[in-house]
Order: sequence, then structure tokens, then C-alpha cells
Amino acid sequence: MEEYDFLVIGSGSGLDVANAAANQGWSVAVVERGRLGGTCLNRGCIPSKELLYHAHVMETIERADEFGIDAAVNDVAFADIVREVNEDVHGSSDSIRRGLRSSETIDLYEAEGRFVDDRTLELTGGAADGERIRADTVLVAAGTRPAIPPIDGIDTVDYLTSTEALQLETPPDHLVIVGGGYIAAELAQFFGTFGSDVSIVGRRPNLLPDADEEVAAAFTERYTDRFDVYTGYEATAVSGDEGSITVEARPFADAGDSVASPDDPISVTGDELLVAAGRVPNTDTLNVEAAGIETDQAGFVRTDEYLRTTTDGVWALGDIVGEYLLKHNANHEAQAVARNLFGDELEPVDYSAMPFAVFASPEVAGVGLTEQELRAADREYAKRTYRYEETARGSAMKADGFVKPIIDLEGQILGCHIIGPEASDLIQEVVVAMTAGSGTVRDIQESVHIHPALSEVVQRAFSGQFTLGDGVTRDHDHGHDHNHGHSHDHDHGHDHNHDHDQ
Ligand SMILES: Cc1cc2nc3c(=O)[nH]c(=O)nc-3n(C[C@H](O)[C@H](O)[C@H](O)COP(=O)(O)OP(=O)(O)OC[C@H]3O[C@@H](n4cnc5c(N)ncnc54)[C@H](O)[C@@H]3O)c2cc1C
Repeated sequence: MEEYDFLVIGSGSGLDVANAAANQGWSVAVVERGRLGGTCLNRGCIPSKELLYHAHVMETIERADEFGIDAAVNDVAFADIVREVNEDVHGSSDSIRRGLRSSETIDLYEAEGRFVDDRTLELTGGAADGERIRADTVLVAAGTRPAIPPIDGIDTVDYLTSTEALQLETPPDHLVIVGGGYIAAELAQFFGTFGSDVSIVGRRPNLLPDADEEVAAAFTERYTDRFDVYTGYEATAVSGDEGSITVEARPFADAGDSVASPDDPISVTGDELLVAAGRVPNTDTLNVEAAGIETDQAGFVRTDEYLRTTTDGVWALGDIVGEYLLKHNANHEAQAVARNLFGDELEPVDYSAMPFAVFASPEVAGVGLTEQELRAADREYAKRTYRYEETARGSAMKADGFVKPIIDLEGQILGCHIIGPEASDLIQEVVVAMTAGSGTVRDIQESVHIHPALSEVVQRAFSGQFTLGDGVTRDHDHGHDHNHGHSHDHDHGHDHNHDHDQ
């Protein structure tokens, strides 16, 4: 049996720690059953965002008439676009594979691993089929896969998960999506822009249910204008034959203030079904029980704040831990594991300003606590919304959307939520303020923002009157006169302090 200092299962963000260990002079093995580079590169962030950028270009052309420009799309080489994107990610994956295969410090096992005891894996497939390998330190970075809910008939029909949807070379005529989270939203945007009719069946009262409630409600409203959206419904059965698929759904009991009445089932028919109903951790196929690695009820690996599992010498990171199922979180955790393995002192992972973004149209991004979380925790807070249209750039773009900061009564930033163009970029200054600044509204208010850039919408959202959770207003300007007696009216007639609380 080969023995190593360090064994990494999964070649997504786990690879970062494998490289760090190799640089420390450790002998390292990486076990990967699929394409090198993991979910983000092969079937997640990268192909989806490359494809979505094409939809963004298409949408820009379609909106040209709003700007007095008469433009028409003559043709879309849809199959070529999809092929090119997939070839691009395969090229990157192949290059990681070549790098690992020629590495003198890392052994790559292209096989499926299964724990047989606390730090020993048995391999299935590839050149080392049937062999066992062992290490002093093990990192479980084996990710998640699409969840398939127990819908009657699901095994009898052909359906897509996000993996297959990203490779589809023809847009469906009518795509039915089960699930209302960000993957559903992004794929609806992609196929909807390229001509598919889209129906979305989601269990919760709003799409993007993890986003701030006002953002989720605004997003759902915009999607309802574009697509057939059935929120508050749970898919219960599917049936289909060649070229047609029907989803039956009934009102979801826990949907909250759902719009649907309990005896009002629906039936939606299309020609393709996409199941985008969450992710399940790969702890089952990895047989983590044999290693004594404890999991939570949903099967995610339990870790302490340093990312050590319940088994000595075994660490975990990324999606399989389930803290945030996002690539930048997996990378952040990889840095934490490397620091804790090779640093002098253990340091807990800092999750305090973990942002997320949804690259749909409208774009959505957020960081920190949502209003519903603060209400549920019975905490005092103040909030404000500021609309894009109130800034010069937002107005020039005919942008629709808002920025919603939430602060405590001392002006500390608790969260910020954005819906509208470039939300994924705009949120970043709030993340920086929360992570590296004082974390108060002043970080944003007092930093000079380029005029008339879109970032002014964030600055203005953080300046002026906030509304307390209980409805009383209070000025969070901290007595500073930002105008210093001069008139800096770069506002082009817009009202800086117009409060757009909804
Ligand atoms: C459609 C889609 C879009 C996404 N978009 C974004 C986005 O825009 N931004 C963002 O931040 N995140 C996005 N994500 C999420 C992101 O892809 C994941 O959070 C990230 O890839 C997790 O990294 P990881 O290293 O934890 O796991 P992974 O990258 O999943 O790596 C785990 C690896 O382990 C391997 N493996 C599993 N079990 C075994 C075994 N028993 N033996 C050997 N190998 C095994 C798997 O094959 C896999 O390669 C998206 C995901 C999807 C599905």
C-alpha cells in the first residue's frame, strides 16, 4: 500500500492545499474520479458564466431600441457557442491534468475513492483499480452533486441537471425548471434569452429564497414578467413521452404566505425538464462513516471552526462542508486549511463577509445578514434602499434596481443587498469595508467615488436617512457635512436623499 504525508480527495479547491503541501516538501496524493478542476471549472461557475455572457450580449442588442438604436439579431450560432465554451473548460481541465501527471511532488490517482478506515482509501477505476492508499493527513474536498427530489415518475423520464443543461446544443422550445434557486434562475436567463419558453416551479414564496426578502420579491416580480413562474409549489409527479414532459405540482405546505390555495394543483408541460433543486454532498459515495467522519442530517461533513473533522488528521473544505456552496468560499476555506496545517497557530475561518451573486437578469448580489434574518433574531437594525435610476449612470443605462444596506444603530454594516446591473461588482466595496475597513457606513460614505460611475449608487445608498426596523428614522451621517459648504451638485437633477424604502 502506498503511503503519503497528505492525501486530497477531490481536485476542485482541494488542489490549492495539495499544492501548498507539495511546496512544504510533503509527499502528496490527489484522488479524482471526474474531470480535473472540479465542479466550478467543468460544470459550474465557469461554463455557466461564459454562456451567460452571451445572453448578456444578446439582451444588450435586444434593448438597443430603448437607446434609439435600431438593431436586429440575424442569427445565433447556439451550438457553436455551447461547444466553444465546453471545449474551453475541457482545455483548462486537461492542462491541470497534464500539470499533475508531470508533477514530481504530487501523485494523481484518477479513480473513485472510498474510505475503508480512518485514513485509508480504496480506489475504483483507473490504473490503480483495487489498490489502497493511506496518508498521515487527509483532506476531504469531494464536493456535491445535483439533488434529485423524490418526485413520482422521475426515474421514468429523461431530465437534465445543470451539468447536462450546460452542454445542450439546441435551446428547448419549452423548458420546465423544478427549483427556484440561483442555478434555476441563471439557466432560465440563458435559455430564455435564446428563445426558450421557460416555466419555473419553486417551493418557496419567492425565487432566490436565500436572498434578502425585498430583493427576492423584486426578482420574482421581474421573472414573472418574463416567464411562467409558479412559486409556492412543490413538484410531485412527472410523466412524459417522446418530446413532451409534464410536471404536476401542488401548493407547498411550508411555503409561508403562499399565493396558492392548498387545493389548487397545477400541471406544466414542456419539452425538456431541468431539475435544479439543490445539491447533495458526496459523503455517501465516499463512505465517510468508515473513517468515523461525522456528518449532519443532510450528509454534510461536520467540522470545527478550523475545518478539522471529527476524525484525527482528517480535514474538510468546500461544498462538502456545506457552509456556503460557492467557489470563493471553497477557495477561502482552502487558504484557511493551508494556514492551519502549516502555520504556527490555528485560526478559525472568517465567514463574516461572505458575498454571493446571481448572474441572471436582473443581476443579484448580497453580503451579510438579510432583513428576514435580523427580524428572526430580534435584532435592532436600520435599512435604506436607493434606486439605480437616481444616479447619473443608472439613469443613462435606464437601469432598474436598488441597493439596500442594513446597519446597526451605531452605523456598523450588517449586510447589503443589490438587485440590478453589475450587482456582483458593486457589492465588492461593501465586502472590502466589512472585511478590511472599519466595517461602518463611513468607510463607504467617506471614500471618494468616481463620478458619474455606477458605484455612486452604493455610496448614496449608504448616505442619508436610514429607516429603523421599527419605522423611526435617524440620520447616519454622524454629523459630517460632506459638502463642506460647497455646492457639489453632480446630480443632474436627481435627488441624493430621496428615500426609496419599500
Ligand atoms: C451550475 C453551477 C453554477 C455555479 N456557479 C457558481 C458561481 O457563479 N459562483 C460560485 O461561487 N459558485 C458557483 N457554483 C458552485 C461551485 O461550483 C462550487 O461551490 C465549487 O465548485 C465547490 O468546490 P469544491 O472544491 O468544494 O468541490 P468540487 O469542485 O465539486 O470538487 C470536488 C471533486 O471531488 C470529486 N469527487 C467526489 N467524490 C469523489 C470520490 N469518492 N473519489 C474521488 N473523487 C471524488 C468530484 O469529481 C469533484 O471533481 C456553481 C455550481 C453549479 C453546479
